[in-house]
Amino acid sequence: MKDLNIIKEKTIGILGGGQLGKMLCEAAFDLGYKTMVLDANKDACARQKADYFIEASYDDKNALEKLAKNTCLITYEFEHIPSETIKILEDFGANIPQGARPLYLSQDRIREKEALKKINIPTVPYYKVLTYDDLEKYTKILGFPVILKTSRGGYDGKGQCFIKDIKDLKAVKLENITYVLEKAIDIKYEVSCIAIRAKNKEIELFPIVRNVHKNAILNISQVPSPLSEDLEKKIKSYSKDIIEKLDFIGPLAIEYFIAKDLKIYFNEMAPRPHNSGHFTLDACNVSQFELHLRSILGLELKRPKLLRKVLMQNILGEDKKSIENLKSDKNTKVYLYGKGAWRKGRKMGHINILGDFVK
Ligand code: ADP
Ligand code: MG
Repeated sequence: MKDLNIIKEKTIGILGGGQLGKMLCEAAFDLGYKTMVLDANKDACARQKADYFIEASYDDKNALEKLAKNTCLITYEFEHIPSETIKILEDFGANIPQGARPLYLSQDRIREKEALKKINIPTVPYYKVLTYDDLEKYTKILGFPVILKTSRGGYDGKGQCFIKDIKDLKAVKLENITYVLEKAIDIKYEVSCIAIRAKNKEIELFPIVRNVHKNAILNISQVPSPLSEDLEKKIKSYSKDIIEKLDFIGPLAIEYFIAKDLKIYFNEMAPRPHNSGHFTLDACNVSQFELHLRSILGLELKRPKLLRKVLMQNILGEDKKSIENLKSDKNTKVYLYGKGAWRKGRKMGHINILGDFVK
């Protein structure tokens, strides 16, 4: 690190160096800021765009001190950051506008659902499971099919087990950790909404996205969503309520299920940019990354506007061959994250396919 050249007032610290971190670095550059990214993986893809990169784990005090002392504020691109990390950074004098609470709530599925219930947002029916007896008892109450999820650490469908009948139930082997058992919703649509709340408490919402998953990994996002005006209104009102009542600053990506009977259920949330928000890079007047940074920097927010209809498609490891000859043009924007090994199920990039202009 070229320590002597760092201008603290113009340098943003980012915890996590994945593709979201990389795109935050690009947005920071456009706003005239430099970035310092901390990640334990020396090949973290954000390193390509970060001005400074600290290769260290989230409990490395020397590294955290460096990050705290050389940045005007710190944000995160990943919700599974230990709260201890935030505490250490704050002890070193770091400015973390979002604080630790959004991480604390969103990194544990049970904690998250409890918080949402308290503010009267309908969650998927669920029970906490610690033992096999719990599992049997609550499966009986919820009725097949159910989904068992590790309460912590899961993403892209990892740590989840779909239980459709008694045979599946008997095959479950529990580890000595906390699980959440959820009713499997008969889903008509999955949607998400990215809300942003500024330091002055102003809130903006990005357009609602319809998400189609494949093997529990996001495949396609569609904007505008096919939801009725009434459903869109309800989702927007829930999203505004959630970020306001939880009193969060920064971005909050919220996922919902719409059941066949059109009931809305909160699924999960993440206090960071979201895969389903990548359409904003090309189809909106402002990207989710720019608005994230504006909200925590205390810059004026922009009101998100959809300029063009859009489909976002993820590029996974197994898509290597099929995207080889794909090039960007005025209606197709291809993004590759530069992540190294093309492993099955790994998010390697995405494509924004732009349609008609929106009046
Ligand atoms: P993560 O995205 O962190 O892996 P999710 O809880 O969002 O975890 O689950 C991933 C996907 O699995 C969801 O987008 C949805 O397609 C499916 N899924 C998860 N929970 C349920 C549920 N209770 N009912 C129906 N489908 C579900
Ligand atoms: Mg999810």
